Amino acid sequence: MKCIFCQIVSGEMPGDILLQNEHICAFRDIHPAAPKHVLIVPNKHIASTEDISNADRDVAAELILAVKEVAKLEGISKSGYRIISNCGSHGRQEVKHLHIHVLGGAPMKHRLG
Ligand code: AMP
Repeated sequence: MKCIFCQIVSGEMPGDILLQNEHICAFRDIHPAAPKHVLIVPNKHIASTEDISNADRDVAAELILAVKEVAKLEGISKSGYRIISNCGSHGRQEVKHLHIHVLGGAPMKHRLG
């Protein structure tokens, strides 16, 4: 059984997709924690940051470069935003497919956390 984000990437499950290329897919979070909340995931199933290998260099670079592109598409490049990637149980990662949260559209309540 494919994970939920693999299903969104492949189109088997609907997603509010903003951006997709050879390496990554960006879609809006179903339960937004900010006025703008987008998730960027690798098309390939990588469970978390702990599972990124040297062979994934291109994917890792594309994930970070996509942040800037998503911010532009969401109109938050100038106002700013936060990026978060939760890893493992202490990081409170719920979906075991690597993803970067891009949060913006309003000032963050806390500097961190
Ligand atoms: P994390 O705790 O970092 O694993 O966050 C997982 C995120 O995925 C949460 O913010 C969820 O709201 C989001 N999420 C779960 N299912 C979906 C879905 N089908 N489409 C979009 N976002 C989702």
